[in-house]
Amino acid sequence: MTAPTSRPTARSADLFARASAVTPGGVNSPVRAFGAVGGTPRFIASAQGAWLTDVDGNEYVDLVGSWGPMLLGHAHPEVIEAVQAAVARGTSYGTPTEPEVLLAEEIVARTPVERVRFTSSGTEATMSAIRLARGATGRDVVVKFAGCYHGHVDALLASAGSGLATFAVPGTPGVPQSATDLTMVLPYNDRAAVERVFAEHGDRIACVITEATPGNMGVVNPEPGFNAFLAATCAAHGALFVSDEVMTGFRATKRGGWGLDGAVEGWVPDLMTFGKVMGGGLPAAAFGGRADLMGLLSPEGPVYQAGTLSGNPVATTAGLTTLRLATDEVYAHVDAVATTISEAASAALGEAGVPHLVQRAGTMFSIFLLEQGSTLTAVRDFDEAGRQHLPAYAAFFHAMLDAGVHLPPSAYEVWFCSAAHDERAVQHVLAALPAAARAAA
Ligand code: PLP
Repeated sequence: MTAPTSRPTARSADLFARASAVTPGGVNSPVRAFGAVGGTPRFIASAQGAWLTDVDGNEYVDLVGSWGPMLLGHAHPEVIEAVQAAVARGTSYGTPTEPEVLLAEEIVARTPVERVRFTSSGTEATMSAIRLARGATGRDVVVKFAGCYHGHVDALLASAGSGLATFAVPGTPGVPQSATDLTMVLPYNDRAAVERVFAEHGDRIACVITEATPGNMGVVNPEPGFNAFLAATCAAHGALFVSDEVMTGFRATKRGGWGLDGAVEGWVPDLMTFGKVMGGGLPAAAFGGRADLMGLLSPEGPVYQAGTLSGNPVATTAGLTTLRLATDEVYAHVDAVATTISEAASAALGEAGVPHLVQRAGTMFSIFLLEQGSTLTAVRDFDEAGRQHLPAYAAFFHAMLDAGVHLPPSAYEVWFCSAAHDERAVQHVLAALPAAARAAA
Protein backbone atom coordinates (compact mmCIF):
# COMPACT_ATOMS: atom_id res chain seq x y z
CA MET A 1 0.00 0.00 0.00
CA THR A 2 1.40 3.44 -0.79
CA ALA A 3 0.43 6.53 1.08
CA PRO A 4 0.55 10.09 -0.21
CA THR A 5 2.74 12.47 1.72
CA SER A 6 3.98 15.98 1.05
CA ARG A 7 6.60 15.75 3.77
CA PRO A 8 10.15 14.45 3.64
CA THR A 9 10.32 10.81 4.70
CA ALA A 10 13.61 9.67 3.15
CA ARG A 11 15.41 9.05 6.44
CA SER A 12 12.47 7.16 7.94
CA ALA A 13 12.20 5.11 4.73
CA ASP A 14 15.93 4.33 4.81
CA LEU A 15 15.82 3.30 8.47
CA PHE A 16 12.70 1.21 7.84
CA ALA A 17 14.47 -0.65 5.02
CA ARG A 18 17.51 -1.27 7.25
CA ALA A 19 15.29 -2.23 10.17
CA SER A 20 13.33 -4.66 8.01
CA ALA A 21 16.56 -6.42 7.08
CA VAL A 22 17.50 -7.08 10.70
CA THR A 23 14.13 -7.11 12.51
CA PRO A 24 10.90 -8.83 11.40
CA GLY A 25 8.63 -6.22 9.84
CA GLY A 26 11.19 -3.58 10.79
CA VAL A 27 9.60 -3.12 14.20
CA ASN A 28 9.71 -4.55 17.70
CA SER A 29 5.93 -4.60 18.15
CA PRO A 30 3.70 -5.30 15.13
CA VAL A 31 1.24 -2.39 15.09
CA ARG A 32 4.12 0.09 14.77
CA ALA A 33 4.74 -1.13 11.20
CA PHE A 34 1.72 0.73 9.73
CA GLY A 35 0.53 -2.61 8.31
CA ALA A 36 -3.11 -1.65 8.80
CA VAL A 37 -2.84 1.77 7.17
CA GLY A 38 0.05 1.34 4.73
CA GLY A 39 3.04 3.59 4.20
CA THR A 40 6.28 4.13 6.05
CA PRO A 41 6.31 4.29 9.82
CA ARG A 42 7.96 7.45 11.07
CA PHE A 43 11.16 6.89 13.03
CA ILE A 44 11.00 9.28 15.94
CA ALA A 45 14.18 11.04 16.97
CA SER A 46 12.87 12.93 19.99
CA ALA A 47 9.74 14.02 21.75
CA GLN A 48 8.80 16.93 23.96
CA GLY A 49 5.45 17.60 25.59
CA ALA A 50 2.70 16.83 23.07
CA TRP A 51 5.07 16.75 20.09
CA LEU A 52 7.12 14.11 18.28
CA THR A 53 9.98 14.97 15.93
CA ASP A 54 10.95 12.38 13.35
CA VAL A 55 14.36 11.72 11.83
CA ASP A 56 13.44 13.83 8.77
CA GLY A 57 12.67 16.80 11.01
CA ASN A 58 8.86 16.60 10.76
CA GLU A 59 6.87 17.49 13.86
CA TYR A 60 3.64 15.80 14.88
CA VAL A 61 1.15 16.27 17.67
CA ASP A 62 1.22 12.85 19.30
CA LEU A 63 -2.10 11.13 19.94
CA VAL A 64 -0.53 7.73 20.60
CA GLY A 65 1.47 8.58 23.72
CA SER A 66 3.53 5.40 23.47
CA TRP A 67 0.20 3.52 23.51
CA GLY A 68 -0.88 5.05 26.78
CA PRO A 69 1.98 5.59 29.22
CA MET A 70 2.72 9.25 28.46
CA LEU A 71 -0.09 10.78 30.53
CA LEU A 72 2.08 13.80 31.41
CA GLY A 73 3.45 14.20 27.88
CA HIS A 74 6.96 13.48 26.68
CA ALA A 75 10.11 14.36 28.60
CA HIS A 76 8.31 15.93 31.53
CA PRO A 77 11.09 17.89 33.28
CA GLU A 78 10.43 16.45 36.74
CA VAL A 79 10.25 12.88 35.46
CA ILE A 80 13.45 13.37 33.49
CA GLU A 81 15.20 14.88 36.50
CA ALA A 82 14.13 12.03 38.78
CA VAL A 83 15.13 9.40 36.20
CA GLN A 84 18.52 11.03 35.60
CA ALA A 85 19.19 11.08 39.33
CA ALA A 86 18.13 7.43 39.60
CA VAL A 87 20.34 6.40 36.66
CA ALA A 88 23.30 8.15 38.26
CA ARG A 89 22.80 5.96 41.35
CA GLY A 90 23.07 2.80 39.23
CA THR A 91 20.55 1.18 36.94
CA SER A 92 19.86 -2.19 38.53
CA TYR A 93 21.01 -3.97 41.68
CA GLY A 94 18.91 -7.11 41.91
CA THR A 95 18.07 -6.20 45.50
CA PRO A 96 15.03 -4.57 47.06
CA THR A 97 15.03 -0.75 46.76
CA GLU A 98 13.09 2.17 48.24
CA PRO A 99 11.39 3.34 45.00
CA GLU A 100 9.65 -0.06 44.74
CA VAL A 101 8.17 0.38 48.19
CA LEU A 102 7.04 3.93 47.47
CA LEU A 103 5.45 2.97 44.15
CA ALA A 104 3.72 -0.04 45.70
CA GLU A 105 2.36 2.19 48.47
CA GLU A 106 1.12 4.72 45.88
CA ILE A 107 -0.67 1.99 43.92
CA VAL A 108 -2.21 0.49 47.03
CA ALA A 109 -3.42 3.98 48.04
CA ARG A 110 -5.03 4.62 44.64
CA THR A 111 -6.61 1.24 43.94
CA PRO A 112 -8.52 -1.52 45.74
CA VAL A 113 -5.45 -3.80 45.73
CA GLU A 114 -3.88 -4.51 49.10
CA ARG A 115 -0.50 -5.76 47.89
CA VAL A 116 1.32 -5.66 44.57
CA ARG A 117 4.18 -7.40 42.82
CA PHE A 118 6.07 -5.64 40.01
CA THR A 119 6.93 -7.06 36.60
CA SER A 120 8.56 -5.48 33.55
CA SER A 121 5.63 -5.75 31.11
CA GLY A 122 1.86 -5.95 31.12
CA THR A 123 2.15 -9.37 29.52
CA GLU A 124 4.05 -10.70 32.51
CA ALA A 125 1.52 -9.09 34.84
CA THR A 126 -1.48 -10.83 33.28
CA MET A 127 0.42 -14.10 32.90
CA SER A 128 1.34 -13.99 36.58
CA ALA A 129 -2.17 -13.01 37.68
CA ILE A 130 -3.55 -16.03 35.88
CA ARG A 131 -0.99 -18.32 37.43
CA LEU A 132 -1.90 -16.94 40.84
CA ALA A 133 -5.63 -17.39 40.14
CA ARG A 134 -5.02 -20.99 39.16
CA GLY A 135 -2.77 -21.57 42.16
CA ALA A 136 -5.29 -20.00 44.54
CA THR A 137 -8.33 -21.87 43.26
CA GLY A 138 -6.73 -25.15 42.26
CA ARG A 139 -8.69 -24.86 39.01
CA ASP A 140 -7.44 -24.61 35.46
CA VAL A 141 -9.92 -22.85 33.13
CA VAL A 142 -9.57 -19.17 32.23
CA VAL A 143 -12.42 -17.18 30.67
CA LYS A 144 -11.64 -14.15 28.51
CA PHE A 145 -13.53 -11.99 26.02
CA ALA A 146 -13.01 -11.67 22.28
CA GLY A 147 -11.37 -8.35 21.45
CA CYS A 148 -9.81 -7.94 24.89
CA TYR A 149 -6.03 -8.02 24.67
CA HIS A 150 -4.00 -9.04 27.69
CA GLY A 151 -0.53 -9.16 26.15
CA HIS A 152 1.08 -12.00 24.27
CA VAL A 153 0.54 -14.70 26.88
CA ASP A 154 0.11 -18.04 25.06
CA ALA A 155 -3.11 -18.99 26.83
CA LEU A 156 -4.62 -15.56 26.15
CA LEU A 157 -3.73 -15.39 22.45
CA ALA A 158 -6.81 -17.40 21.77
CA SER A 159 -9.85 -17.11 19.53
CA ALA A 160 -13.31 -18.37 20.26
CA GLY A 161 -13.91 -22.03 19.43
CA SER A 162 -16.76 -23.11 17.20
CA GLY A 163 -19.46 -23.02 19.88
CA LEU A 164 -20.06 -20.67 22.77
CA ALA A 165 -19.23 -22.97 25.62
CA THR A 166 -16.33 -24.68 23.90
CA PHE A 167 -12.65 -24.24 24.50
CA ALA A 168 -10.59 -21.82 22.44
CA VAL A 169 -8.30 -22.29 19.49
CA PRO A 170 -4.84 -20.69 19.25
CA GLY A 171 -4.94 -17.15 17.87
CA THR A 172 -1.52 -17.48 16.24
CA PRO A 173 0.81 -20.17 14.96
CA GLY A 174 3.30 -21.00 17.66
CA VAL A 175 0.69 -21.31 20.38
CA PRO A 176 -0.05 -25.00 20.78
CA GLN A 177 -3.62 -26.18 21.06
CA SER A 178 -2.75 -27.45 24.51
CA ALA A 179 -1.96 -23.87 25.62
CA THR A 180 -5.47 -22.69 24.79
CA ASP A 181 -7.29 -25.90 25.71
CA LEU A 182 -8.06 -24.35 29.06
CA THR A 183 -9.15 -20.94 27.73
CA MET A 184 -12.72 -20.02 26.90
CA VAL A 185 -13.37 -16.95 24.75
CA LEU A 186 -16.77 -15.28 24.99
CA PRO A 187 -18.35 -12.32 23.20
CA TYR A 188 -17.87 -9.12 25.22
CA ASN A 189 -20.92 -7.72 27.02
CA ASP A 190 -22.74 -11.05 26.64
CA ARG A 191 -24.15 -12.03 30.03
CA ALA A 192 -25.96 -15.07 28.68
CA ALA A 193 -22.69 -16.50 27.36
CA VAL A 194 -21.05 -15.98 30.75
CA GLU A 195 -23.97 -17.68 32.52
CA ARG A 196 -23.79 -20.60 30.11
CA VAL A 197 -20.07 -21.29 30.63
CA PHE A 198 -20.43 -21.05 34.39
CA ALA A 199 -23.41 -23.41 34.25
CA GLU A 200 -21.40 -25.94 32.24
CA HIS A 201 -17.87 -25.48 33.61
CA GLY A 202 -18.27 -23.39 36.79
CA ASP A 203 -16.38 -25.77 39.05
CA ARG A 204 -13.36 -25.69 36.72
CA ILE A 205 -13.11 -21.92 36.18
CA ALA A 206 -10.15 -20.34 37.96
CA CYS A 207 -10.85 -16.80 36.80
CA VAL A 208 -12.50 -14.43 34.38
CA ILE A 209 -10.06 -11.87 33.00
CA THR A 210 -11.36 -8.76 31.28
CA GLU A 211 -10.23 -5.29 30.37
CA ALA A 212 -12.25 -3.19 32.80
CA THR A 213 -13.30 -1.15 29.82
CA PRO A 214 -11.78 -2.56 26.67
CA GLY A 215 -9.43 -0.34 24.68
CA ASN A 216 -7.85 -2.94 22.45
CA MET A 217 -10.76 -3.21 20.03
CA GLY A 218 -11.10 0.57 20.23
CA VAL A 219 -12.91 1.86 23.30
CA VAL A 220 -15.87 -0.39 24.01
CA ASN A 221 -17.89 0.38 27.11
CA PRO A 222 -19.10 -2.36 29.41
CA GLU A 223 -22.87 -2.24 29.49
CA PRO A 224 -24.07 -0.85 32.84
CA GLY A 225 -23.49 -3.44 35.53
CA PHE A 226 -21.48 -5.82 33.33
CA ASN A 227 -18.33 -5.75 35.48
CA ALA A 228 -20.39 -6.04 38.66
CA PHE A 229 -22.18 -9.01 37.11
CA LEU A 230 -18.84 -10.64 36.28
CA ALA A 231 -17.53 -10.06 39.79
CA ALA A 232 -20.71 -11.49 41.35
CA THR A 233 -20.79 -14.48 39.00
CA CYS A 234 -17.16 -15.30 39.81
CA ALA A 235 -17.80 -14.97 43.54
CA ALA A 236 -20.86 -17.22 43.35
CA HIS A 237 -18.82 -19.96 41.69
CA GLY A 238 -15.60 -19.63 43.69
CA ALA A 239 -13.70 -18.19 40.71
CA LEU A 240 -11.58 -15.03 40.79
CA PHE A 241 -12.32 -11.83 38.90
CA VAL A 242 -9.21 -10.33 37.28
CA SER A 243 -9.53 -6.76 36.07
CA ASP A 244 -6.80 -5.99 33.54
CA GLU A 245 -6.10 -2.30 33.97
CA VAL A 246 -2.78 -2.22 32.11
CA MET A 247 -4.26 0.36 29.77
CA THR A 248 -6.98 1.95 31.88
CA GLY A 249 -5.12 2.07 35.20
CA PHE A 250 -4.15 5.67 36.13
CA ARG A 251 -5.05 6.65 32.56
CA ALA A 252 -8.80 6.55 32.11
CA THR A 253 -9.18 8.18 35.53
CA LYS A 254 -6.97 8.97 38.53
CA ARG A 255 -7.89 5.81 40.38
CA GLY A 256 -6.22 2.66 39.22
CA GLY A 257 -9.47 1.01 38.36
CA TRP A 258 -11.97 1.93 35.70
CA GLY A 259 -15.53 2.13 36.97
CA LEU A 260 -14.36 2.03 40.57
CA ASP A 261 -14.38 5.81 41.07
CA GLY A 262 -16.88 6.67 43.76
CA ALA A 263 -17.83 3.00 43.90
CA VAL A 264 -19.90 3.59 40.76
CA GLU A 265 -21.00 0.03 40.45
CA GLY A 266 -19.85 -1.53 43.68
CA TRP A 267 -17.58 -4.20 42.22
CA VAL A 268 -14.11 -4.98 43.45
CA PRO A 269 -11.78 -7.26 41.53
CA ASP A 270 -9.89 -10.05 43.29
CA LEU A 271 -6.81 -9.30 41.22
CA MET A 272 -5.81 -6.35 39.04
CA THR A 273 -3.04 -5.81 36.53
CA PHE A 274 -1.35 -2.50 35.79
CA GLY A 275 1.27 -1.18 33.36
CA LYS A 276 1.75 1.73 30.97
CA VAL A 277 1.19 4.96 33.03
CA MET A 278 2.55 3.41 36.24
CA GLY A 279 5.90 2.92 34.49
CA GLY A 280 6.11 6.57 33.39
CA GLY A 281 7.42 5.51 29.96
CA LEU A 282 9.89 2.92 31.25
CA PRO A 283 9.28 -0.84 31.47
CA ALA A 284 7.30 -1.40 34.65
CA ALA A 285 4.04 -3.20 35.27
CA ALA A 286 2.37 -4.88 38.23
CA PHE A 287 -0.31 -7.21 39.42
CA GLY A 288 -1.99 -6.99 42.77
CA GLY A 289 -5.05 -7.85 44.76
CA ARG A 290 -6.37 -9.14 48.02
CA ALA A 291 -3.69 -9.64 50.66
CA ASP A 292 -4.58 -13.31 51.19
CA LEU A 293 -4.25 -14.06 47.48
CA MET A 294 -0.99 -12.16 47.07
CA GLY A 295 0.37 -14.01 50.09
CA LEU A 296 0.30 -17.18 48.01
CA LEU A 297 3.19 -15.84 45.92
CA SER A 298 6.73 -17.04 46.34
CA PRO A 299 8.62 -16.60 48.69
CA GLU A 300 5.67 -16.23 51.10
CA GLY A 301 3.61 -18.93 49.43
CA PRO A 302 3.96 -21.72 46.90
CA VAL A 303 3.08 -19.93 43.60
CA TYR A 304 6.33 -19.12 41.80
CA GLN A 305 6.82 -15.78 40.09
CA ALA A 306 9.99 -13.74 39.51
CA GLY A 307 11.91 -11.28 37.29
CA THR A 308 15.53 -10.11 36.97
CA LEU A 309 14.50 -6.51 36.30
CA SER A 310 11.17 -6.53 38.16
CA GLY A 311 10.81 -3.38 40.27
CA ASN A 312 13.83 -1.87 38.56
CA PRO A 313 14.86 1.30 40.46
CA VAL A 314 14.92 3.56 37.38
CA ALA A 315 11.56 2.33 36.08
CA THR A 316 9.85 2.52 39.46
CA THR A 317 11.26 6.03 39.96
CA ALA A 318 9.78 7.10 36.60
CA GLY A 319 6.45 5.55 37.54
CA LEU A 320 6.38 6.98 41.04
CA THR A 321 7.22 10.49 39.81
CA THR A 322 4.56 10.22 37.12
CA LEU A 323 1.86 9.07 39.52
CA ARG A 324 2.74 11.77 42.04
CA LEU A 325 2.44 14.42 39.32
CA ALA A 326 -0.83 12.95 38.03
CA THR A 327 -3.13 15.14 40.10
CA ASP A 328 -6.85 15.79 39.74
CA GLU A 329 -5.95 18.85 37.64
CA VAL A 330 -3.96 16.67 35.23
CA TYR A 331 -6.90 14.31 34.71
CA ALA A 332 -9.32 17.23 34.34
CA HIS A 333 -7.07 18.73 31.66
CA VAL A 334 -6.60 15.46 29.76
CA ASP A 335 -10.35 14.89 29.96
CA ALA A 336 -11.07 18.35 28.54
CA VAL A 337 -8.57 17.84 25.71
CA ALA A 338 -10.18 14.49 24.89
CA THR A 339 -13.58 16.18 24.78
CA THR A 340 -12.39 19.00 22.53
CA ILE A 341 -10.60 16.71 20.07
CA SER A 342 -13.26 14.00 19.95
CA GLU A 343 -16.09 16.53 19.48
CA ALA A 344 -14.16 18.37 16.76
CA ALA A 345 -13.35 15.11 14.97
CA SER A 346 -16.97 14.08 15.12
CA ALA A 347 -18.09 17.47 13.79
CA ALA A 348 -15.59 17.34 10.92
CA LEU A 349 -16.59 13.78 9.99
CA GLY A 350 -20.25 14.71 10.18
CA GLU A 351 -19.65 17.71 7.93
CA ALA A 352 -17.86 15.48 5.42
CA GLY A 353 -20.68 12.92 5.52
CA VAL A 354 -18.59 10.13 7.07
CA PRO A 355 -20.69 7.88 9.33
CA HIS A 356 -18.84 7.35 12.59
CA LEU A 357 -19.14 6.63 16.30
CA VAL A 358 -17.18 8.20 19.12
CA GLN A 359 -16.75 5.98 22.18
CA ARG A 360 -15.27 7.25 25.39
CA ALA A 361 -14.01 5.85 28.71
CA GLY A 362 -12.74 8.61 30.97
CA THR A 363 -9.87 10.31 29.18
CA MET A 364 -9.65 7.51 26.57
CA PHE A 365 -11.63 7.63 23.34
CA SER A 366 -11.81 5.99 19.93
CA ILE A 367 -13.47 7.07 16.72
CA PHE A 368 -14.93 4.28 14.62
CA LEU A 369 -15.40 5.19 10.94
CA LEU A 370 -18.24 3.23 9.38
CA GLU A 371 -19.44 2.28 5.91
CA GLN A 372 -21.99 4.53 4.23
CA GLY A 373 -25.44 3.36 5.28
CA SER A 374 -24.19 1.60 8.41
CA THR A 375 -26.91 1.19 11.01
CA LEU A 376 -24.54 0.57 13.91
CA THR A 377 -25.41 2.81 16.87
CA ALA A 378 -22.72 1.59 19.29
CA VAL A 379 -19.79 -0.81 19.19
CA ARG A 380 -20.48 -3.32 21.96
CA ASP A 381 -18.19 -6.21 21.07
CA PHE A 382 -15.41 -7.39 18.78
CA ASP A 383 -17.76 -8.37 15.95
CA GLU A 384 -19.19 -4.88 15.87
CA ALA A 385 -15.70 -3.34 16.05
CA GLY A 386 -15.01 -5.36 12.89
CA ARG A 387 -17.72 -3.45 11.06
CA GLN A 388 -15.47 -0.41 10.73
CA HIS A 389 -14.60 0.97 7.29
CA LEU A 390 -10.86 0.34 7.42
CA PRO A 391 -9.93 2.08 4.11
CA ALA A 392 -11.64 5.23 5.38
CA TYR A 393 -9.55 5.11 8.56
CA ALA A 394 -6.35 4.63 6.53
CA ALA A 395 -7.17 7.69 4.39
CA PHE A 396 -8.06 9.71 7.50
CA PHE A 397 -4.89 8.59 9.29
CA HIS A 398 -2.60 9.58 6.42
CA ALA A 399 -4.24 12.95 5.92
CA MET A 400 -3.74 13.66 9.62
CA LEU A 401 -0.15 12.41 9.51
CA ASP A 402 0.60 14.61 6.54
CA ALA A 403 -0.83 17.57 8.45
CA GLY A 404 1.41 16.78 11.43
CA VAL A 405 -0.82 14.71 13.71
CA HIS A 406 0.26 11.20 14.69
CA LEU A 407 -2.83 9.04 15.28
CA PRO A 408 -2.72 5.34 16.14
CA PRO A 409 -1.89 3.46 12.91
CA SER A 410 -4.85 1.12 13.41
CA ALA A 411 -8.58 1.62 13.62
CA TYR A 412 -8.79 -0.66 16.67
CA GLU A 413 -6.98 1.64 19.06
CA VAL A 414 -7.43 4.46 21.54
CA TRP A 415 -6.47 8.09 20.89
CA PHE A 416 -4.36 9.09 23.89
CA CYS A 417 -4.06 12.74 24.99
CA SER A 418 -1.77 14.12 27.67
CA ALA A 419 -1.37 16.90 30.18
CA ALA A 420 1.06 18.51 27.73
CA HIS A 421 -1.57 18.91 25.01
CA ASP A 422 -1.86 22.67 25.30
CA GLU A 423 -3.84 25.14 23.22
CA ARG A 424 -1.23 25.17 20.43
CA ALA A 425 -1.22 21.38 20.12
CA VAL A 426 -5.00 21.11 20.28
CA GLN A 427 -5.49 23.86 17.68
CA HIS A 428 -3.03 22.06 15.43
CA VAL A 429 -5.15 18.91 15.62
CA LEU A 430 -8.40 20.80 15.08
CA ALA A 431 -6.99 22.54 12.00
CA ALA A 432 -6.08 19.19 10.45
CA LEU A 433 -9.45 17.51 10.97
CA PRO A 434 -11.69 18.93 8.19
CA ALA A 435 -9.37 17.92 5.31
CA ALA A 436 -8.75 14.50 6.88
CA ALA A 437 -12.48 13.95 7.22
CA ARG A 438 -12.96 14.82 3.55
CA ALA A 439 -10.17 12.39 2.65
CA ALA A 440 -12.09 9.66 4.50
CA ALA A 441 -15.37 10.40 2.71
N1 PLP B 1 -3.24 -5.74 28.98
C1 PLP B 1 -3.74 -4.70 28.31
C2 PLP B 1 -5.14 -4.25 28.61
C3 PLP B 1 -2.99 -4.03 27.35
O1 PLP B 1 -3.51 -2.99 26.68
C4 PLP B 1 -1.67 -4.47 27.11
C5 PLP B 1 -0.84 -3.83 26.08
O2 PLP B 1 -1.27 -3.04 25.29
C6 PLP B 1 -1.18 -5.56 27.83
C7 PLP B 1 -1.99 -6.17 28.77
C8 PLP B 1 0.19 -6.07 27.61
O3 PLP B 1 1.12 -5.14 28.08
P1 PLP B 1 2.62 -5.15 27.50
O4 PLP B 1 2.54 -4.67 26.09
O5 PLP B 1 3.34 -4.19 28.41
O6 PLP B 1 3.14 -6.52 27.63
